[in-house]
Amino acid sequence: MCPDCFPAGVSGFPSWWEYEAFAQQLPRKPLTLLPAASDPVVRYACPTCREVWVLSEPEGAWRGYFLPEPAAAVYTQRLMMGDKARRLGCFGLLLAAALYAGWRWLCVA
Ligand SMILES: [Zn+2]
Repeated sequence: MCPDCFPAGVSGFPSWWEYEAFAQQLPRKPLTLLPAASDPVVRYACPTCREVWVLSEPEGAWRGYFLPEPAAAVYTQRLMMGDKARRLGCFGLLLAAALYAGWRWLCVA
């Protein structure tokens, strides 16, 4: 992070307009586009401070982000863990409901 690139990252664009405003700034920066990797993000390197920025475009409910590479890794990991916890919680609730229904059925029978 330096005056040539960006003073701070963006962890999630609140709206498409915010992303548009950001995307218009991007070509004015002296960043170098890095070759695409297997993940669906775009990487830019700052020639001044050597920071590697990761851009994930917002799409649908996904808010996207523009973060230095290490922060982007932590951010996506945290999101994935939150997702997993939510799914596990949902499954637990279903299991509890099924057990309760089974127990009620046994008591009535
Ligand atoms: Zn920089």
